[in-house]
Amino acid sequence: MQLIVPDYIRSIKPYTAGKSLEELEREYGIEDSIKLASNENPLGPSPLAVEAIKSAAENLHRYPDSNGFYLIERLAKHLNVAPEQIVLGNGSDDIIGLLAGAFLQPGDEVVLPKPTFLMYEIMAKSVGAIPVEAPLSLLSLDLERVLEKITAQTRLIFLCNPNNPTGTIFSKNQLERFLSEIAADIIVVVDEAYAEFVRDPDFASGLNYLQSERPVVVLRTFSKAYGLAGLRMGYGVMPAEVADYLNRIRLPFNTSLLAQAGAVAALEDTAFLQKTLEVISTGLEFLYDSLEKMGLEYFQTQANFFLINVKQDADAVFKKMLHQGVIVRSMSSYDFPEYIRINVGLAEENARLINALKLVL
Ligand SMILES: *Cc1c(COP(=O)(O)O)cnc(C)c1O
Repeated sequence: MQLIVPDYIRSIKPYTAGKSLEELEREYGIEDSIKLASNENPLGPSPLAVEAIKSAAENLHRYPDSNGFYLIERLAKHLNVAPEQIVLGNGSDDIIGLLAGAFLQPGDEVVLPKPTFLMYEIMAKSVGAIPVEAPLSLLSLDLERVLEKITAQTRLIFLCNPNNPTGTIFSKNQLERFLSEIAADIIVVVDEAYAEFVRDPDFASGLNYLQSERPVVVLRTFSKAYGLAGLRMGYGVMPAEVADYLNRIRLPFNTSLLAQAGAVAALEDTAFLQKTLEVISTGLEFLYDSLEKMGLEYFQTQANFFLINVKQDADAVFKKMLHQGVIVRSMSSYDFPEYIRINVGLAEENARLINALKLVL
């Protein structure tokens, strides 16, 4: 074999997903392990979504609706936008890929904070664009630094609010000031995968700025607060003109029949969402309190996950935690070699996490 691979593809480091429970139990021969590594919903999926998926399974011999009509209609009402402004994706990761595919050419620049969600960099590189990193200050997105990185080659900017992996947000004032400085030919993508969890009233969704003359794209997902990570459904909200280009390159059946049906039902399951938010906020209080008592440094979050400074090699801590049957995320791939990221679980899972940390550290 003599593969001819573009340098920009060679330069991509494969994404390491959170380890799965199944994988851990298979490799270590342990049972009853818990996973607090991928920011998933500890309550499981919305029961209404599961019901809807079961009934939709009767129609699995059919192709899904390529336009996701019902889901888009519900989302449009829910978000108060026009259906033409919504593009569905096989997770919001898919929308990141579509944005790169539709708007980037080799040599274009994409500004992204560092550290942030790794898919922005991977998708930018996948089309030969150049990721330009704007370091965070004190773990918060520094929009001034993002502005400083803009050049004539900048086509896309990715902001993550709340930011993964730091859990921090930027405020309404910061966002408005930032947008006022952006030229009309640069697309600003605001990834709001964790928007539902935010408690700080200073948070402003990018959805409020879709009307502005510059293109703003907001990413949302059913993977986190709605408990449907395994189903794969996310979406982007954007000016209809932007959506039109994404739809030209979108695979016609990028979202499955089951995913469309499950997401419609999950959107209606407000009781489940409410319960999820309660579990996360009580869990956070318990975890903050326990970590404080242990004298460990952690970083307050607006999402369902946060960083802990373990002051030693995070990969080693990750491995030792595995032996305790607890999967956390080492931040070494984000260049934070002494930090782990954990997400809030059920009360008993949070207690196990704390006990395991006490043993390991
Ligand atoms: C989890 C996550 C997503 C969602 O990914 P899906 O593809 O929708 O599962 C998007 N952005 C960030 C920052 C995330 O953490």
